[in-house]
Amino acid sequence: MDKASSHLAPPETPRAFGFYLDGGFVPAGERETFLRTSPGHGVPVTSIPTCSAEDVDTAVASARAAFEDRRWSGLNGADRAAVLLRTAEIIRRRAEEIAYWETLENGKPISQSRAEVGGCVGMFEYASGLARSLHGDSFNNLGDGMFGIVTREPVGVCGVITPWNFPFLILCERVPYILASGNTLVVKPSEFTSATSLILAEIMTEAGLPDGVFNVVTGPGRTVGQAMIEHMDIDMLSFTGSTRVGRSVVEAAGKSNFKKLGLELGGKNPQIVFADADLEDAADGVAFGIAFNTGQCCVSGSRLIVERSVADAFGRMVADKLAKAVVGDPLDEATQIGAITTDAQNATILGYIAKGQDEGARLLCGGEALDLGQGQYIAPTIFSDVTPSMSIAREEIFGPVLTILPFDTVEEAIAMANDTEYGLAASVWTKNIDKALMITRRVQAGRFWVNTTLSGGPELPIGGMKASGWGREAGIYGVEEYTQVKSVHIELGKRQHWIE
Ligand code: NAD
Repeated sequence: MDKASSHLAPPETPRAFGFYLDGGFVPAGERETFLRTSPGHGVPVTSIPTCSAEDVDTAVASARAAFEDRRWSGLNGADRAAVLLRTAEIIRRRAEEIAYWETLENGKPISQSRAEVGGCVGMFEYASGLARSLHGDSFNNLGDGMFGIVTREPVGVCGVITPWNFPFLILCERVPYILASGNTLVVKPSEFTSATSLILAEIMTEAGLPDGVFNVVTGPGRTVGQAMIEHMDIDMLSFTGSTRVGRSVVEAAGKSNFKKLGLELGGKNPQIVFADADLEDAADGVAFGIAFNTGQCCVSGSRLIVERSVADAFGRMVADKLAKAVVGDPLDEATQIGAITTDAQNATILGYIAKGQDEGARLLCGGEALDLGQGQYIAPTIFSDVTPSMSIAREEIFGPVLTILPFDTVEEAIAMANDTEYGLAASVWTKNIDKALMITRRVQAGRFWVNTTLSGGPELPIGGMKASGWGREAGIYGVEEYTQVKSVHIELGKRQHWIE
């Protein structure tokens, strides 16, 4: 897996993984296995065990034992930080291997996988500092007889359920922060993209993470995921995925042990472009925002809300940009847009493209599957003549499909941007600082970009408003989410007796 070897190819035989329990791989054994086919090449690349509900019980018991005996939470922050830093080093060393399997299972371009793995190194490095700096509070203003302390404690055993669109990145936006305060974990990756979560487990053991602190169970959501969301001994669950499954996570938490939840769900994110923007920059940003990761991003800028005076010209500028993007073999260094990750998602996107045409929207570009001789690809697509009530303007498509909605006034732009059940992300493009700040304040979104889009890093938190979810991941906010607060009241001196 040498980066210099420019002719990467899928493996000749699928790589067989075990699931990860108590510091080691457990081979599939008698369990069924899931053979994952590379969406970019149409050949099987990995073989993954289908775990049972009993396997989930065993993994939770392992994480519980590791939490209760304090082998991780009892360490000082500096020792936890050292493990997180060593993990970062090993990820850096094995980056090419991680990127290769990520691209094979997901279909994203190899250059993008490499960049994401680089970002994950930064997540572990940043969280290592937080393991040392996390602290509570004290109250010295309660009078001479009382002193108050607020401590932060780890929540306990955390479950993490991740989707297939950014398997390694989404994992690394959570795991180091969850570990920083001393929690233990059971992770369930998407059944389509399990390889890099399993590689991370192996890396963390090599980095010195005590056995049992990080466990990975593999298999479908309806069995393995369901067993996790209903589990009585998982204290907190981070779920990233569709709003539909997010609802069942909330219901299951209510019916089981009221586990604390972090939810990162869907989005239908506006890109608001004013006529006074640098339109060249904005066109590039809007093209990137809808075609990056083939639009299979929760934060894709899928609704272009553009000032009417420039709407037609700007739509053509974006279409011209997209026409130049290189769609192709995800293992090719030159590729910018890769394959659609799952067969179901491919059908969903093509279904929405057909629906858009049926509803009367006009295709500006794309609108079809691309036959590249192998795998499944869809041309980046733009619809104009869209009305706000059309399903392509309201529902999350999760593909490279952009809808154009023109506006006349700032108030109209804000109303259109907020006219959605979601509130995950938004971008505004203008050179007028007053307008930029007004839009930033009034559009409901957990992540906001001004004259850029889809940027991020370990410092700034991730999460949504409205039906896009609860809580925040990453940054100091991400660490604090996975702690619980305890108020300690310390009486000083002789007690004033209640009964004399
Ligand atoms: P999904 O909801 O189908 O699956 C997500 C995860 O949940 C997978 O691991 C899956 O196996 C599991 N799952 C499925 N059914 C389950 C059940 N009944 N109980 C427990 N777990 C279950 O989503 P997906 O198709 O993998 O991903 C696409 C969706 O995820 C999109 O809607 C997208 O917006 C959302 N997403 C959101 C973010 C974010 O940060 N907000 C990031 C990525 C993806």
